Amino acid sequence: MSFSTAGVHHVTAITSDQQRNLDFYAGILGLRLVKRTVNFDDPTTYHFYFGDESGNPGSLITFFAWPGARRGRPGAGQVGVTSFSIPPRSLGYWIERLIRYHVQYEQPRTRFDDERVIAFKDPDGLLLELVAHASAEPRPQWAGGQVEAEHSIRGIHAVTLWEDGHELTSRLLTEALGFRLTREQGSIYRFVAQAAGPASIVDLRVVPGLWSGVMGAGAVHHVAFRARDDAEQIAVRGALATLGSNITPQLDRQYFRSVYFREPGGVLFEIATDGPGFTVDEPLETLGRALKLPPWLEDRRFEIEALLPDVRLPLKIPGPAG
Ligand code: ZN
Repeated sequence: MSFSTAGVHHVTAITSDQQRNLDFYAGILGLRLVKRTVNFDDPTTYHFYFGDESGNPGSLITFFAWPGARRGRPGAGQVGVTSFSIPPRSLGYWIERLIRYHVQYEQPRTRFDDERVIAFKDPDGLLLELVAHASAEPRPQWAGGQVEAEHSIRGIHAVTLWEDGHELTSRLLTEALGFRLTREQGSIYRFVAQAAGPASIVDLRVVPGLWSGVMGAGAVHHVAFRARDDAEQIAVRGALATLGSNITPQLDRQYFRSVYFREPGGVLFEIATDGPGFTVDEPLETLGRALKLPPWLEDRRFEIEALLPDVRLPLKIPGPAG
């Protein structure tokens, strides 16, 4: 049985300022901070997870907070753009909101006939989009955040890979991860996961001659795709090895289990299990409020808390109508 991912599990990027990052994603964009933890490879820095109410796979954008990190450079071999879903009727609401909070954005444009796209950047320069499309409507709303529930972001819509060419990456997406090539428009190849549900789109944009991306603040570190469970993850790991990828052993990320490899175009890919999820170490009601550490770091909590900078969740800020 060949593997077919349900789509994007999460996107992880780098911020140079943890408080500004919290204010932007939990405040202006109104996502839920579903986990406040540390970078397991460098426990003196934060790792924030933002998502929908329960942090479902496909709703998640996460950040390594490296204070004062040098700015990265968007370019080839990176996830160039991360796109979030909004319902079509929320387009005006979001334009007003971006204006209100002085977020520069580009006038909405149409893509592939059925998407209206607003492009903007986060405070570190990370390229983002809000994409209004009809299938966003039924996805879970988050009523406890800074954005009215009906207009709340409905998780990730797509990621756009920027690559020198497309052949090898296309083959990996279709043969190892189970995506289908559904559309081509200009330099964009659109791949959709078989399930065609939320967060199921990968756009591969061919940018020959574009400079290479440089990792740093405002750049995506990696994109993770969903595996249902360990068995699926083992199966896809085998398929990737057969296609010639070096791939890590399984790593325990506490909220999911992960393997990593670099796809042929240079982007770091991860395959992450759907479970166990974010309620494994705190209740749904209080997700994100307290610093959570994995069991193997718990006995260093005193030292870790002393080294981490203080942060606070943004206070309720009035919406554009308020
Ligand atoms: Zn990850």
